[in-house]
Amino acid sequence: MNVLVAQFVTESNEHIPQMTTLDSYDLRFGADATSQMNMGSVFEDAGVGVIQSVYANGFSGGVVERCAFDYIEGRILADVREHIQEIDGMFLHLHGASEVEGIGSGDHHILHAIRDIVGPYLPIVVACDPHGNLCKSYVYDATVIRSYRESPHTDLADTVKRCCSILVDLLNHRQNIRPAYRKLPLILGGEQSVSADEPVRSINAYMDEMEQDPRVLSASWHVGYIRHDTDVAGCGVVVVPATEADQGYAEEKADELAAYVWDRRHVFHYTGLTQEPGEALSTACSCLTGTAFLTDSGDNVTSGAMGANTLVLRQVLASKEAVGKKVLFGGITDAKTAAQIAFANIGDRMHISLGAGYDELSAPVELDIQIRSRGRLEGFMGYMGDYGEGEVVSVEGADGPSIDIIVLPYGHTMVELHQFASLGVECSDYDLVVVKQGYIFPELKELAERSGALSVMSLTEGATYQNTAKLPLKRIMRPMFPIDDM
Ligand SMILES: [Zn+2]
Repeated sequence: MNVLVAQFVTESNEHIPQMTTLDSYDLRFGADATSQMNMGSVFEDAGVGVIQSVYANGFSGGVVERCAFDYIEGRILADVREHIQEIDGMFLHLHGASEVEGIGSGDHHILHAIRDIVGPYLPIVVACDPHGNLCKSYVYDATVIRSYRESPHTDLADTVKRCCSILVDLLNHRQNIRPAYRKLPLILGGEQSVSADEPVRSINAYMDEMEQDPRVLSASWHVGYIRHDTDVAGCGVVVVPATEADQGYAEEKADELAAYVWDRRHVFHYTGLTQEPGEALSTACSCLTGTAFLTDSGDNVTSGAMGANTLVLRQVLASKEAVGKKVLFGGITDAKTAAQIAFANIGDRMHISLGAGYDELSAPVELDIQIRSRGRLEGFMGYMGDYGEGEVVSVEGADGPSIDIIVLPYGHTMVELHQFASLGVECSDYDLVVVKQGYIFPELKELAERSGALSVMSLTEGATYQNTAKLPLKRIMRPMFPIDDM
């Protein structure tokens, strides 16, 4: 038996000026693609052959250019057509939060186009990010769709392997099953749904227990994605029955799971210490020992922002409380300045105008700097790819804080300590590290705690502004909590 496998991952934030182009993708084919799919040896161990189609990871960015999407989808569909006589099922790793110009959800479009070719019965198992949007036709196009449980997504690889195992079982014991799906009138930001915290921890435990039931093949909760205006936004739950006879039972369980989440809608909250920008910087500066972290949550690169905002840099430069502190910005995205300093030698001094200037938030800041170090930025969370060159510059001449800034040509987030080390800096050498995240990632949080300092989320403005109730969403289902009082 053979399965065809492919991955398309894109998170589209429409509040940034850049489009996601073909260049934005880590695009791989053949064995090179398989090496990034996190499938382990599940298919190999089961004696199932793997036909590798495209691996396309666009990370987080803007709306996807139509021609880029057409190319990626076209490659996948061409592979499906070419191998249709050989394949017994498919495994897809999709994100669920792409938005393609003129199309809408690219994820939904790909799955539907595959169904048009293979018909309704070929087993297709989809592993996905919980921050993806669902709709009835998308869920019904999958035989099984299951999201990761943890945010941050520490169980990504385990979820992929689990989905591959489910597919192997379905190949060996074919079932005529359909997922049970319920949409909830609830939108949430990723920063309010951290899995170490309530109510997500209880929801996950509830679903884990549900999956112990032999009548339930899979149960998952999908937070959804709110960084582009789409009618498919909103939370959803999916329960997949084990056999056709369990279909009615799965529908009941989907109702129960939907009610369980809905009943906890008032419990969702920002995880950790969360403050308005002025107060957040004061809090971070009040730490007398260790390394404090401040997250610039309105410019969260893991949720599609560019990481280009200089707002917090200007705030630190003007702050009396930051005087005498060693501060690291990890990092600020500015392609023009990155290109300007890329050819300078370590130790060179120069003047830069740091800031892409897209808007007031990313307004340039004039700085005299010295080139401190450089390196190739490593990936994170199992993705060890090369994110390109990064430069670390030290700001000169200020009597205030001692500031080092990581300047990146592209928006990539820095969430693990080895990423800082790959550019020649150690977080523990600083009193305060400013990062482009929402909720603080585990390794950084742990360093703050271990060193006797705090991590604080600053509610800055930007493309990933956290106040869900104030987002300009016109196309979503209404009423919708918390926009509407329900
Ligand atoms: Zn996610």
